[in-house]
Amino acid sequence: TLTEYVLGREPTDGDDRVALVDADRTERITYAELGADVAAVAGGLAALGVRPGDVVALISHNQPVYAVAVHGIVAAGAAVTPINPAFTAAEIAKVLRASGASVVIAAVPAAAAVAEAADAAGVAHRFALGEHPGFRPFAELRGCGLAAPRIEVDPATAVAALPFSSGTTGLPKGVRLTHRNLVANLEQNRVGWPVGADEVLPASLPFFHIYGFTIILNTGLAARATVVTLARFALDDYLRMLQEHRATRAFLAPPVVLQLATAPAVDDYDLSSVRLAVCGAAPLDVAVAERAEQRVGWPIRQGYGMTEASPGTHQVAEDEFATTPAGSVGRLLAGTDGRLVDPATGEDAAPGEPGELWVRGPQVMPGYLDDPGATAATLVDGWLRTGDIARVDDDGVFWIVDRLKELIKYKGYQVPPAELEALLLTHPDVLDAAVVGVPHAEGGEAPKAFVVAARPVGAEALMDWVAERVAPYKKVRAVEFVERIPKSPTGKILRRELR
Ligand code: ATP
Ligand code: MG
Repeated sequence: TLTEYVLGREPTDGDDRVALVDADRTERITYAELGADVAAVAGGLAALGVRPGDVVALISHNQPVYAVAVHGIVAAGAAVTPINPAFTAAEIAKVLRASGASVVIAAVPAAAAVAEAADAAGVAHRFALGEHPGFRPFAELRGCGLAAPRIEVDPATAVAALPFSSGTTGLPKGVRLTHRNLVANLEQNRVGWPVGADEVLPASLPFFHIYGFTIILNTGLAARATVVTLARFALDDYLRMLQEHRATRAFLAPPVVLQLATAPAVDDYDLSSVRLAVCGAAPLDVAVAERAEQRVGWPIRQGYGMTEASPGTHQVAEDEFATTPAGSVGRLLAGTDGRLVDPATGEDAAPGEPGELWVRGPQVMPGYLDDPGATAATLVDGWLRTGDIARVDDDGVFWIVDRLKELIKYKGYQVPPAELEALLLTHPDVLDAAVVGVPHAEGGEAPKAFVVAARPVGAEALMDWVAERVAPYKKVRAVEFVERIPKSPTGKILRRELR
């Protein structure tokens, strides 16, 4: 099972090394405690009636006890459905209903919304990671003294995690990830990103998203490293965490890289313990990445993946950092096949041409939750259609061009918004930018830029500047200045909000 892989089959008694600590050092869990607490939580949940096949929802920001909850649930044979604690009661209720969760475990700041959602969805068993009226303290489960149940699960079919996709392009879909999917991906990622037991992994990206869940939390624990949790991202708190905990690597998403490239605070901290950083979840602009690298002093290279693939399918392996450009997402992981398909014909794209990326491997989900239509549209003959346009060089190194659904069609020509965003970010007066397609009389649809300006700049001047640098069909044909670009917790531009 996932928990046996991550925590080991042997008891962790006597292992006093720190498994998890929060950035402020107010809560610390050793490996010995983690093993004992996970067993007790599993035993407590089993005593409540939780059985293999059941679902338990976990609604929390990053904190050390998150790991106890995740693996307590999984060790009881149930699936954990992680929910963003910033969701409203209505949003939480939707996930509780869809997942059929029978128990909720909530962080205190989210507890009021969770209570309302649990009432609406009819979930009776409620635990709080702390104290909250109407909830039993999670400490009761953790201290119940019961042994973990003996469970029979088939790792190839039993669901260990049921995260919902980010909902960037549509409604979030429940993604069924089996024990085998998640374990396979931990093994695959380790090949190029080997984490040692002496390492310190900073966890600012949320554990409720698959990136934080697999690439930071479970990777760190499986390596017997120390995972440091940050409840919510603020640049100064993040930089202080890296410095004070002597973090050995960093896990980034593009908005953080943008801050590292520009914020003066970066110079106030000693970041020399960090050896390298990986970035994923959304397109990384090369110029921004290079500026950030110069300031922090460590290399930044990408990985790529999606919730449906546990999440990793591509990575720039550590030993190829120096020889791989920052703009690429690297190579297919071990045991993973990839192909590029021409969306117009459904045939393989011509060599050297971009196409929709299809991937296949042991980390790919068996299907969405209760949605055979979406599953059939996404899984084709064992291939996962990623919905992203990519290209690959002769050497097997991939680049993500953009999302298929977000390509703007101007007079039938395809304009990738990510390319225009990257260009706009190189303008000295532009702090941040997002591009969406808007209706256009002649073109059908045309690129419009939303821009956060560093100092006053004219819309016409900006459009002319872009026009000098791109083919005519890619011209930005409208500009609107905004105070910030709406983004998801992992830094994806929420284009539907801009539209
Ligand atoms: P939904 O499928 O619900 O619309 P989502 O696809 O954003 O949401 P995730 O599974 O969190 O949900 O994100 C996967 C997507 O993130 C990929 O399909 C891709 O578009 C994007 N992505 C991930 N890594 C990278 C990267 N390195 N470069 C560019 N895009 C990336
Ligand atoms: Mg998706």
